[in-house]
Amino acid sequence: MEITANNPALSTWIKGAELTEFPIQNLPFGIFSTIHSSKRVGVRIGDFVLDLAQMAAYGYLTDIQIDHSVYENEFLNPLMRYGKLAIRSLRNRLAVLLDVQNPTFQNNSAHHSALIPVTEVRMSLPVQIGDYTDFYSSKEHATNVGMMFRDPSNALLPNWLWIPVGYHGRSSSVIPSGQSVIRPKGQLKIDENSDPIFAPSRQVDFELEMGFITFEGKDLGQSITTAEAEDFIFGLCLFNDWSARDIQKWEYVPLGPFLAKNFASSMSCWIVTLDALQPFACETPIQQPEVLSYLKFEGLKSYDIELQVAIQAPNCSEKIVSTSNFKYMYWNMSQQLAHHTVNGCNIRCGDLLGSGTISGPTPDSYGSMLEIAWKGTKPVQMPDGSQRKFIQDHDKVVIRGCSQKNGIKIGFGEVTSELLPAY
Ligand code: CA
Repeated sequence: MEITANNPALSTWIKGAELTEFPIQNLPFGIFSTIHSSKRVGVRIGDFVLDLAQMAAYGYLTDIQIDHSVYENEFLNPLMRYGKLAIRSLRNRLAVLLDVQNPTFQNNSAHHSALIPVTEVRMSLPVQIGDYTDFYSSKEHATNVGMMFRDPSNALLPNWLWIPVGYHGRSSSVIPSGQSVIRPKGQLKIDENSDPIFAPSRQVDFELEMGFITFEGKDLGQSITTAEAEDFIFGLCLFNDWSARDIQKWEYVPLGPFLAKNFASSMSCWIVTLDALQPFACETPIQQPEVLSYLKFEGLKSYDIELQVAIQAPNCSEKIVSTSNFKYMYWNMSQQLAHHTVNGCNIRCGDLLGSGTISGPTPDSYGSMLEIAWKGTKPVQMPDGSQRKFIQDHDKVVIRGCSQKNGIKIGFGEVTSELLPAY
């Protein structure tokens, strides 16, 4: 089925939309509420949110094979259960209705109440996340961490080039952009020769990641191939996998991350469909040694998405600490999903799979303070003269993401979270 909404020649009658990250070619999905309405499904166009429940009530979505009740749900999951083709039809229909050439909705100003200015909405967590998995798929990040904490001459562990390494995270502490994060407390091993202490973490860090949200997958015992994988991916979000490095360092042996990671992970509120990102599909980096057969893939499975991380300290202009790109990932999403299910593990509607920290090849593209400040040896200078090795209380971490080509920007908005002091 053709993706009408992706046509670069399309132009919308919504004023100024083409200048934003949310032109007619994007149309991401989210959950919003207003002072007049409870949580419901919205689609972003320019500086407006299109209320799909109202659009359905006005009769614009009658021949789309989706029950209208899903538009009034507090999560996207019931809509996502209709799968890729139904959501593609819906997105195409919305593109037709928003097209400057089409008078149907445009000329019916009585129905324009379905377009709500973004300044009047409150965004919420878009997906009821069932399971959350976080990968470790950036070769540069894994190498940097290996150099700092293990052997610089042998930084990558032997399995890394064979397996998209990952772990199961905690879905219930995934929070939306705008919600603050409280500095975690835990066991810190300050030096080799003394016992651990219990204290607030002194090394709270961000991890620049992207996440993808799945459609209903296959049952237990079955696997998703790399060729099928994208049929099971609804869309992507920006993701900040908050990490407490000092807690992590002491606890992670031998079973991996636990309390250093599960206190909060922040996601952006608009889910950009994989359909909308198709024009930005690109080559995956060369993989050597040659991967095992179930991890082989054909075609363009990586995505060119420009990423940026900024730290906003109180009473201080923001400092951009990283400029990176999702295309740097060594393992692509199709390989991650194929690997996740190769043992027969199931995937359900609303699972969240994090990419792992996205670090590029140069220090200005590293995806965590651990790497940017190189374990505290290269502090970042803030505009107000202060320094950062990690994130301080009341700093806000902002991650932004956008793909662009031929003057069209497909953006994610941002994921912003303030770190509050420990209780
Ligand atoms: Ca992570």
